[in-house]
Amino acid sequence: MTKKRPNILFIMADDHASKAISCYGSGINSTPNLDRIANEGVRLNHCYVTNSICTPSRAAILTGTYNHVNNVTTLETPIDNRGPNVAKHLRTGGYQTALVGKWHLGEGKAHEPTGFDFWSVLPGQGEYFDPYMIEMGKEIEALGYATDVITDKSLEWLNRCDRDKPFFLMCHHKAPHREWEPHPNNRHLYQDDIALPDTFDDDYKNRAKAAAEARMRIKEDMKYVDLGLVQPEGGAEVGERTKPGATDRCIPNPEDVTNLRLIDRDTGEAFTFQTQDELSYFKYQRYLKRYLRTIHSIDESVGRLLNWLDETEQADNTIVIYTSDQGFFLGEHGWFDKRFMYEESFQMPFLMRYPESIPAGTVCDDMLCNVDFAPTFLDYAELPIPNYMQGLSARKVLEGNPPSNWPQIAYHRYWMHRDPDHNAYSHYGIRDQRYKLIYWYNDGFDLPGTNMGGQDKEWELFDCEKDPLELFNVADDPAYVEIRATMLSKLTAKMAEIGDEPAH
Ligand code: CA
Repeated sequence: MTKKRPNILFIMADDHASKAISCYGSGINSTPNLDRIANEGVRLNHCYVTNSICTPSRAAILTGTYNHVNNVTTLETPIDNRGPNVAKHLRTGGYQTALVGKWHLGEGKAHEPTGFDFWSVLPGQGEYFDPYMIEMGKEIEALGYATDVITDKSLEWLNRCDRDKPFFLMCHHKAPHREWEPHPNNRHLYQDDIALPDTFDDDYKNRAKAAAEARMRIKEDMKYVDLGLVQPEGGAEVGERTKPGATDRCIPNPEDVTNLRLIDRDTGEAFTFQTQDELSYFKYQRYLKRYLRTIHSIDESVGRLLNWLDETEQADNTIVIYTSDQGFFLGEHGWFDKRFMYEESFQMPFLMRYPESIPAGTVCDDMLCNVDFAPTFLDYAELPIPNYMQGLSARKVLEGNPPSNWPQIAYHRYWMHRDPDHNAYSHYGIRDQRYKLIYWYNDGFDLPGTNMGGQDKEWELFDCEKDPLELFNVADDPAYVEIRATMLSKLTAKMAEIGDEPAH
């Protein structure tokens, strides 16, 4: 009898920056169970998303294709579920398959999950408390905290699995997505303040204007509910609308902050301020602590899944992956959110344990993209990788023997030009192990209230070794003429290879 193929336990969070996983070394929080995956397996420092928002990243992971191919380019372009995906291949290849948690690729017959024996998903962004879920086509209300509910349902399915056949489980958490609502038991965590990042007061000079135009600033663009604060009754004096038509308003940032009084939604505690800096610091602390508290629950959840593998003696024959659909800004450049090709949102955390072939404590500096995930799963499952997939199996890379021709580059394209929530500009670009070239083509799709194209197009080039904080655009620096040309040729070649159309 041949040996059973490995189980694949794929755990993905939503908007979890690698900086908020302790094994990545920032020291802002403690995630012992996530660290355990890295300590007993491999930690990747350079895994990248092809489009730094939820829906397109999920489509790329599921299909192994770029977004101009799977047509999931924005948050409002659901997947066509008649197309092939990795779960379908694994299922027909003998795997038991399930998806539990966030889906965000659309609802209804044409968009609901396909390829899964069992699925139970949050509609849209989902809720943190007593979430409504769509389970095998039927709407249910699941009582409890979303992270716990998703974990319970994952374990229930795992316990129902046939032990003689391998399983593929996608366990997709909602946390730590906005509005960062922690479990009530964790509201007391992180009493000590967290240091501000070096670029918190970024003035956005020496960069394309997209940086200054984005409405993702902690100081200006956070809404009351983001920080667990009461939004007072009233109009513009209470704060600007978050976007046209929205009832949520931003917490104001007036020059004179002494009349501002903010109230905790849970405890009723009131906060007052003497200076704008004090108010900004308050917003940052409040944001980070809420974010990290939601991650505490994820870490506990991962601990439960790892324990289950130990108890059922399946740890040796199970590939465990922990990742996030993209990175996130945690105050770098003064921002929250993602969308940009700047490192904090472009980089995905990626931890993997598979004792069979990955030595404990491995650290990998090779470059990976989320389109590589699906081919990698199929490779480990000993199934053929279909031609339509554009990513490559990263098996040898993860096992410490990257092929000499492994493409050490990552391509990114963000299409939602000036989306009404964040005013982020559309762009595409390429990163290699040293440099990053970004083209801000500043035009885009007809989303409601968008497509105000025609702004000046701009190029950015960053030397990620000399300027890891990405503060100095050297695209027009004479010293970088040759580098820029080399990066442009890499970008052109990559777009030609994957069939994406340059913007003019
Ligand atoms: Ca996300």
